[in-house]
Amino acid sequence: MGVFIIIGIIAATGYYISLRIHPLTKCKVCGGAGKHHGTVYASAYHRCTKCGGTGRADRLGTRLFLGGTGGTGQSSRRLRGHA
Ligand SMILES: [Zn+2]
Repeated sequence: MGVFIIIGIIAATGYYISLRIHPLTKCKVCGGAGKHHGTVYASAYHRCTKCGGTGRADRLGTRLFLGGTGGTGQSSRRLRGHA
């Protein structure tokens, strides 16, 4: 039983470290492209409204455990530290 707890702690720690190093993922709406193309005029596009054209999105764990970064990759905690 204790082995499973240790494995769980190691997995949770690894996930947390992963979140600190890689807090962002591709925007699910635009697939990371940051834009939506028209169907008739294929070269025409508008900025993705979900990610604001950045193509970035916070990972689920980033929002849950780090308070979210707003798609910037900079945690709000770190930003407060600078201010
Ligand atoms: Zn997007």
